[in-house]
Amino acid sequence: METIKKDIRALTRDQLRNFFVSQGDKAFRGNQVYEWLWQKSAHSFDVMTNLSKETRDMLQENFVINHIKVDQMQRSSDGTIKNAVRLHDDLIVESVLIPTKTRTTACVSSQVGCSLDCKFCATARLKRMRNLNPDEIYDQVVAIDNESRLYFDRPLSNIVFMGMGEPLMNYNNVLKAIEKITSSEGLGMSPRRITVSTSGVPKLIKKMADDEVKFKLAVSLHSAIDETRTSIMPFNATFTLADLREALVYWYQKTKSRITYEYVVWEGINDKREDVDALVDFCRFAPSKVNLIEYNPIDDGQFQQASNKAIEMYVERLEKNGITVTVRRSRGKDIDAACGQLANKS
Ligand code: SAH
Repeated sequence: METIKKDIRALTRDQLRNFFVSQGDKAFRGNQVYEWLWQKSAHSFDVMTNLSKETRDMLQENFVINHIKVDQMQRSSDGTIKNAVRLHDDLIVESVLIPTKTRTTACVSSQVGCSLDCKFCATARLKRMRNLNPDEIYDQVVAIDNESRLYFDRPLSNIVFMGMGEPLMNYNNVLKAIEKITSSEGLGMSPRRITVSTSGVPKLIKKMADDEVKFKLAVSLHSAIDETRTSIMPFNATFTLADLREALVYWYQKTKSRITYEYVVWEGINDKREDVDALVDFCRFAPSKVNLIEYNPIDDGQFQQASNKAIEMYVERLEKNGITVTVRRSRGKDIDAACGQLANKS
């Protein structure tokens, strides 16, 4: 009978060191292997050339390396790159590289599919199949860092957790991945260059604040009126705006980190003056800014981007009230790589 081999990257450095000691070897071998796994992104034991053949075979007998594989890479006319990433169990997630003149941003997935049910998002239709492991999140970032160096001659500069899934519904693994990304044993990136975007799970926003995380927080708000928000993001019936607001105030008190609200304006849904006024009120509770994002149609015509006039009204009212607002254009639309379009179409 074949025993199920353990994923070696589920082990901490200390556990790896202890493993070698238990095999009658030296603890520092654990450090060597750890470095291969995390700094050199080894896909197999064969490449670990500073280990003896026997040691490599022994590892091979005991462990697997569940490395992701970029199955398909698509490039948009605007430079955006979308990776279809195959996991060890053959499920697929997507991640996106978004280049600007000065930056490269990685947009990474945290779950296969999504447990939430936002009516305007293509990923929601996949349902949630499973959480990604820390190493599967980390690998997506490494793949994009490599592509950035290859195609744009510079390392990755920013990361947003805005791919598939709800990061806070996979809290522990997302935090472990970020730990690795920011650690000098991983990519050594500053946490200030990482943004976690959530639909807004109040309890977990408070937990993040208590855990003293150093990355930035974005909340997909889309409406500051409960009835409207529940109609497009049904989980709002459970996680109401009042609870969300309280959690965000708590977040700011603890972290002093300004919150970004992601917001799409749709025709006939949230394009009225009362919608803007509600948003302005919501923004008063904690220092924040608003990102108005362009709607990326997901085929059924139920949602339509509001008129420019409605968007101008938002910009004007927000600015008049001293709230920073940016209007963000979509990237990578021609390859279904824009916000809310990730659904493993190919
Ligand atoms: N679950 C997390 C992260 C994934 S969604 C969250 O909700 O924040 C990333 C962003 O894309 C969110 O702000 C989401 O509201 C937005 N989005 C989803 N579908 C979209 C669409 N069709 N067009 C534009 N933005 C969309």
